[in-house]
Amino acid sequence: MELVVATRNRKKVEELKRLLEGMPVMLYTLDDFPGCPEVAEDADTFEGNAVKKATAAAACTGRPAIADDSGLEVYALNGAPGVMSARYAGPGADDGKNIEKLLSEMKGIKDRRARFICIIALAFPDGRVETFEGYVEGRIGREPKGSGGFGYDPVFYPAGHDRTFAEMDPTQKDALSHRGKALNGLKGYIEGRLAR
Ligand code: IMP
Repeated sequence: MELVVATRNRKKVEELKRLLEGMPVMLYTLDDFPGCPEVAEDADTFEGNAVKKATAAAACTGRPAIADDSGLEVYALNGAPGVMSARYAGPGADDGKNIEKLLSEMKGIKDRRARFICIIALAFPDGRVETFEGYVEGRIGREPKGSGGFGYDPVFYPAGHDRTFAEMDPTQKDALSHRGKALNGLKGYIEGRLAR
C-alpha cells in the first residue's frame, strides 16, 4: 500500500516510519510531490485541521494520505491552548515562551488537570476519510522539569506518574502518549485493510 505523509516535518516522518516498520507500506512525503502545497492549519478543531491536510494531499497526489494535528487542553482554561498550542504566546513563539505563558495563565489555579490530544486523518483520493484519536490525561506542573521531548513536555505529568514527559525516555513517552495511541489506531486499520 502506498501512503503519503502530508507534512514536510522530518521528525513526524521519522516517527511514522518507525511505527510502520515491517509493514508493506511505501511511504512518501510531500517532498516527493513538489507541486502539492502544504495546507494552512486554520480550522478551529484538531480534526478539522487533520482532515483538511490529509484530504488536500490525497487529492493532489492521487494516493491515500495521512495528516495529524495535536495539542494541549487545560481544563481550568476552558481547553486552551487547544488548537493554538504551537503559537500560544504569539506567532512564531518558541516552546519556552509558550510554557512561560501557560504557567503565568495558571498562576494561583489549583485545578492543574490537562490532556494532550492527537488526531490522525487518513484520506483516500475518492474522498473517503478515516480518523484516529489518541488522548493522554495528566496535570500541569508548577515549573519546567527535564530536557527531553518538545513543546509542553517539561510541564506535563501523565496521570499516575511523578515525572514529566521531558524526564522520560522517548520509548516510555511513546507508550503513554496521545500520538502513540492515535498511531496504533492507524496501524490497526492498515493491518486490517491489508489482510482483506
Ligand atoms: P502540531 O500537531 O505539529 O500542530 O503541534 C501542535 C503543538 O501542540 C506543538 O507545537 C506543541 O506545542 C503541542 N504538542 C503536541 N504534541 C505534544 C507533545 O507530545 N508534547 C508536548 N507538546 C505537544
